[in-house]
Amino acid sequence: MFDHLTNPTLIETRAAIRRYIDEELLPLERELGLGSEDVWPRDVLRGVWRRSSELGLYAACLPVQLGGKGLDIAEQCALKADLAASGAVLAPHVLGDLGGPPRVGNMLKYATPEQLANYFQPVIRGEKSTCFALTEPHSGSDAQSISTTAVADGDELVVNGRKHYISGAPFADFAIVMCVTDATASPPAITAVLIDLDLPGVRVSTEYVPMSGQHIDADIEFTNVRVPRANIFGGEGNGFKLGMSRINVNRLLHCPTMLGLATTAYQASLEYAGKRRQFGGPIARFQAIQHMLADMAAALWACESMIAQTAALADSGADLRMKAAACKLYISERCFEVADKAVQIHGNVGVTRGHPVEQAFRKLRMFRIFTGTSEIQRNTIARAILEPMQAQA
Ligand SMILES: Cc1cc2nc3c(=O)[nH]c(=O)nc-3n(C[C@H](O)[C@H](O)[C@H](O)COP(=O)(O)OP(=O)(O)OC[C@H]3O[C@@H](n4cnc5c(N)ncnc54)[C@H](O)[C@@H]3O)c2cc1C
Repeated sequence: MFDHLTNPTLIETRAAIRRYIDEELLPLERELGLGSEDVWPRDVLRGVWRRSSELGLYAACLPVQLGGKGLDIAEQCALKADLAASGAVLAPHVLGDLGGPPRVGNMLKYATPEQLANYFQPVIRGEKSTCFALTEPHSGSDAQSISTTAVADGDELVVNGRKHYISGAPFADFAIVMCVTDATASPPAITAVLIDLDLPGVRVSTEYVPMSGQHIDADIEFTNVRVPRANIFGGEGNGFKLGMSRINVNRLLHCPTMLGLATTAYQASLEYAGKRRQFGGPIARFQAIQHMLADMAAALWACESMIAQTAALADSGADLRMKAAACKLYISERCFEVADKAVQIHGNVGVTRGHPVEQAFRKLRMFRIFTGTSEIQRNTIARAILEPMQAQA
């Protein structure tokens, strides 16, 4: 995947990640008997962040001045696809996708010097982990309807509310929490606040498990939690803008992860079709199986091309709104179809709990929900393509 990218720094980083996974991460997972659906011990995760940081990988996606490798978005896509296809359970922790530098991404530019020193530099060094908390039990796609409040009291804010389904929350040290700071404004003023998760009044609860079986999401409840006003991130009332500033690139950066997962399901299917014998020979000789494999290969090629093209546009500074939505919509649906075909080719093996294609199928289904459902992506695309017509009318 993405073999057309020839930046020597990228090539070295891809090789370093492969070495780290083969020589350290996979042996560690085997030694600990760690599976995708186990609760990952915090000290193991911290060890991965630290080691990845020592190897210069953890912050690889950041600009050079922030300790990263200055890779562009197309190059970051290549790293993410490699990691998703690596087969390592802890792969998302190598670049810190679940709580490290990519969680903060381009929002870093809004941090004050104190916030950089106390919160974000430790994230970059792999010493602290964070999460981004917008969704609430009664506020999903309609993100502006959140009801968590942060009320000023002298030099402090008092936070009350509940955030729902927050990735990385079970092992995060602090959260970037979207709060209403002025409910009388229209629309209500939403402000991002940095909140340490060990403060009195904070409760992180992991009472549900998504269909992927992974223990990486949780609710965060805030009851009269007091934080300094200096923890306002990005300016009062700017929370929604801040969240939206990361959304297009975020949508795009989920795509290589889906591609990597779907590619492993495709490769497993190719191999299985060659070795599984029925009616006196390998199932790969049946045209029905060949056509499924052909459709999978074509879909993966379309997805890789679309990601590469959209990433190149992002790197050129073009407006990504419609194209990032189209990319996330198309790739989440095609990659899920690839996983579905992989399950079909594997027969009863493919529906067996814990088999890699069965796990890929469940993981890929979830991508049609988070970071904007497929319907919300279609709304964004429709708005963008109809806007010029409506302007003329
Ligand atoms: C695994 C996972 C990880 C997540 N991680 C995070 C995280 O880290 N941080 C965070 O803040 N949130 C996170 N979320 C929440 C996620 O962003 C929301 O689930 C998502 O935005 C959809 O909201 P909802 O689930 O409440 O669905 P709803 O908004 O209730 O939607 C229900 C259905 O109605 C449809 N619908 C809603 N509005 C419209 C509309 N205007 N037009 C057409 N159809 C519509 C939807 O498409 C969907 O089919 C995560 C969710 C999951 C499942």
